[in-house]
Amino acid sequence: MNMSMSSGQRIIVRCMCGGTRDNHEPGCPQERLNNLVTQQRHIRCPKCGHPAVGVNDDDFYECRDCHTQYTIANMFENAEREFLDDPRASDIRAVQVHPLKGTGKFRLDKLIDEARAELVKASKKKRRH
Ligand SMILES: [Zn+2]
Ligand SMILES: [Zn+2]
Repeated sequence: MNMSMSSGQRIIVRCMCGGTRDNHEPGCPQERLNNLVTQQRHIRCPKCGHPAVGVNDDDFYECRDCHTQYTIANMFENAEREFLDDPRASDIRAVQVHPLKGTGKFRLDKLIDEARAELVKASKKKRRH
């Protein structure tokens, strides 16, 4: 009996690592990328409105667009206060606006870029066989 027409609904999505989407082989670059992406944040910036706030290498919140920095600690006297809706925090975060702009250094973004590049390289390699 030919089952090929009805097999679509039961299809298991295979990953390039040889495992499946829910069960990767150890060291799978796709899984590594997935894990990094879940840690990445794009919170709406109270200053410029872009969904671009993440955590920078100095552990401040920083907008990738306008580079305003926000801190959850009370570091500054009379600093402007704002709120950030961080999906990884249990509450809306009350923050202070840092008087200095950030420099756009996001380790996580860099790691994600590297993981993507690695993945592209790996999938090209695989296609050649
Ligand atoms: Zn995989
Ligand atoms: Zn901004």
